[in-house]
Amino acid sequence: MSISSLTEADRKHLIHPVVNYRAHEARGVTLLESAHGSFVRDAEGNELLDAFAGLWCVNVGYGQESIVEAACAQMRKLPYATGYFHFGSEPAIELAAQLVERTPASLQHVYFTLGGSDAVDSAVRFITHYFNAIGQPAKKQFISLARGYHGSSSFGAGLTALPAFHRNFDLPLPQQHYIASPYAYRSNFDDDAALIAASVAALEAKVAELGAARVAAFFCEPIQGSGGVIVPPVGWLKAMRDACRKLGILFVADEVITGFGRTGPLFACEAEGVEPDLMTVAKGLTSGYAPMGAVLISDEVYRGIADGSPDAAIGHGYTYSAHPVSAAIALEVMRLYHEGGLLANAAALGPRFAQGLDALLEHPLVGDSRHRGFLGALELVADKDTKAGFDAALKLPDRIAAAAYRNGLIFRAFGDNILGFAPALSYTAGEFDLLFERLRRTLDDALA
Ligand code: PMP
Repeated sequence: MSISSLTEADRKHLIHPVVNYRAHEARGVTLLESAHGSFVRDAEGNELLDAFAGLWCVNVGYGQESIVEAACAQMRKLPYATGYFHFGSEPAIELAAQLVERTPASLQHVYFTLGGSDAVDSAVRFITHYFNAIGQPAKKQFISLARGYHGSSSFGAGLTALPAFHRNFDLPLPQQHYIASPYAYRSNFDDDAALIAASVAALEAKVAELGAARVAAFFCEPIQGSGGVIVPPVGWLKAMRDACRKLGILFVADEVITGFGRTGPLFACEAEGVEPDLMTVAKGLTSGYAPMGAVLISDEVYRGIADGSPDAAIGHGYTYSAHPVSAAIALEVMRLYHEGGLLANAAALGPRFAQGLDALLEHPLVGDSRHRGFLGALELVADKDTKAGFDAALKLPDRIAAAAYRNGLIFRAFGDNILGFAPALSYTAGEFDLLFERLRRTLDDALA
């Protein structure tokens, strides 16, 4: 099909996630045609530097031939095997064993899904089954963070505290509750310790309000992604984990974005020695080369279900759970993180990324720079003292999006004023230079 007929067919037939539909009809699609390394090429031949790893998922970069070979070999041998009815396949079992070995020691069991939303939904199902099986069926209330994102399924969208995901759907559900985000830039705490203490106190107060005997779990992202890359102080994650243990509720780490080297170590929990009861992963698991997610579960929760309801089958599953091609891809992706040197590259270049973002604090538009590993954001403000936002009439997000495209750069804007960055772990020093050169020009052009 020609570019114009593709654009026309897209306008007529394809519904894009998370856009205003009328605005998309007016604007039209940006057709992406191919990609290699850190660059994406559009249908008009423009080469765009991808500073967002697709949708914070292509952690190994584009065009990794060894992944293509692993996928083809698995497709030829066994393209599909159901995980239902006690069937299984070698790559899925090998991947489960590797995940257990490489995630925090508390996590011993793996349930494969197709992505992050259904990993979150599955976690909720396991938690509910667990409390039923151990004779505490009243534990059905869930707490998550303001600005948190936990997927688009109905339950996950309710754990998500972003209004667009609730619209017209009577969310959050009555059993879903939020506490404040650990958002240092827009909080008035004297120091990190005060912010951490306030988060713990908020969790304790919410559990007391709901009644500990009714609260099942606390869900959080170690660093909030879609809520605007909110980086809590070091120590926050551990403090929240410990608070959950004291309160007798389960702690669930949603590492869909932060997993697989995005923040430095393979998982963000690792950096603080945090052992969650459950952990959700997706994105970097297959690095965008195929859909796949997983929920990892502690032995205590798994045994509670298995031994507490030995006669009951758990009615929850997906046709494509533990897909052998996705699993074969994930195994090769894991090899690239470790033996392929990508974690080491990210460790070496993390400071370069941080310096580049921090240097932009001198720019008149930039009020805050925050980052950990290869995950970062700039928060733009009209006034650095009051931290006031921009007049909507200025249409700053549109101006920035247009300027970024003109300058050959892809990143993501959150709301009106937060720019998020998640480069592939394969980025070179030269690509970081190019990223910051193009980003500075983008900001200058948006102001012009
Ligand atoms: N949890 C988090 C923290 C996420 O960032 C996302 C996706 N951005 C999800 C869950 C949902 O994942 P998916 O889009 O693969 O369903």
